[in-house]
Amino acid sequence: MTTKSPAGQSDSAKKAEIDFRPFLGEGALTDPVSGRMFRERAYLALIDFNELADSGIGFSPFLEIGAGSGQRSAALMNHFGADGVTTDISQGALQNEPYARVILGYKDGPWRICCDAHHLPFLANTFQFVFAYRTLHHFGNPLPAVAECHRVLGKGGHFFFNDEPMIGPIIRFTRGKRQLSDPPSRWQRWAYRYRLEKVFWDDGARERTLGIVEARYDLDLWRQSLAPFGRVEVEVSRRLKLQSNLEKPAFTVLLTRLVGGNVKGLCTKEDGETVNGDFRERLMCLDCGSGGISQRSDEVFGCPKCGREYPLQDGLIRMLPLALENSLYPVGNG
Ligand SMILES: [Zn+2]
Repeated sequence: MTTKSPAGQSDSAKKAEIDFRPFLGEGALTDPVSGRMFRERAYLALIDFNELADSGIGFSPFLEIGAGSGQRSAALMNHFGADGVTTDISQGALQNEPYARVILGYKDGPWRICCDAHHLPFLANTFQFVFAYRTLHHFGNPLPAVAECHRVLGKGGHFFFNDEPMIGPIIRFTRGKRQLSDPPSRWQRWAYRYRLEKVFWDDGARERTLGIVEARYDLDLWRQSLAPFGRVEVEVSRRLKLQSNLEKPAFTVLLTRLVGGNVKGLCTKEDGETVNGDFRERLMCLDCGSGGISQRSDEVFGCPKCGREYPLQDGLIRMLPLALENSLYPVGNG
């Protein structure tokens, strides 16, 4: 793991580096590959969290979607004292959360829920901060999941996302049908060095052959998906420093539309109710929409209205709509 920061780092990035260093050395106890991945994820998220904290964004309570093994949620808790929930549709990934935390040298772990970002098991107006990294482009269309993030946020709360691709005609043209190879060719190694690989090669092509959704949304779909938010600030392409609310300034929007890039966004919910109460008491039944879901035993959470039970295993709750539960986790397969 290199501790070198990305080029053009801000003061915030430097702060994250200092914060991050103490535990870089401690966690050399497991396999270097996933260890490096966990550290890199936590590190890059900390750069963003520092910037957000500097601009006065509140983090508690938080919800992360598409969290994988929850390294970013753990970083938010342990560096900023935030409290919240980490979620992913993969129960296996969430089961690795305590392991990832050991590698990172963190003490506190988030609440873990296996759920689908299209059906978040929380009442409206529950969170102050909802965030996602490299997640929305796996949905095929970001609109329904973003609508859910908006719903569970309270008034004045923020939705933050990063590392999402935006496609434009120029990049479509420069890429053609070229795919990145493994191992990379000489030209690809050169492109990686200057971070141009996504300009000249279709970086999602290989995942698609494995059946993974690697969608590339254009500016109009991003704008449409973020429309529920009262305020939207998006940075497309760090290199070109294009910042816009996707409506104006017009020249930036035009350039963004043509070029595309890597999208990072901060959106503010301006309607709804202020967050009030403990998120642990604001679970919502996915079958009947009722609140008041509570723990019934060491093995289940239950709905007081319709009686639906949600399994609790290895300290994590699985809350999926019944049809999805039956197809992803059929009885007998845990
Ligand atoms: Zn119910």
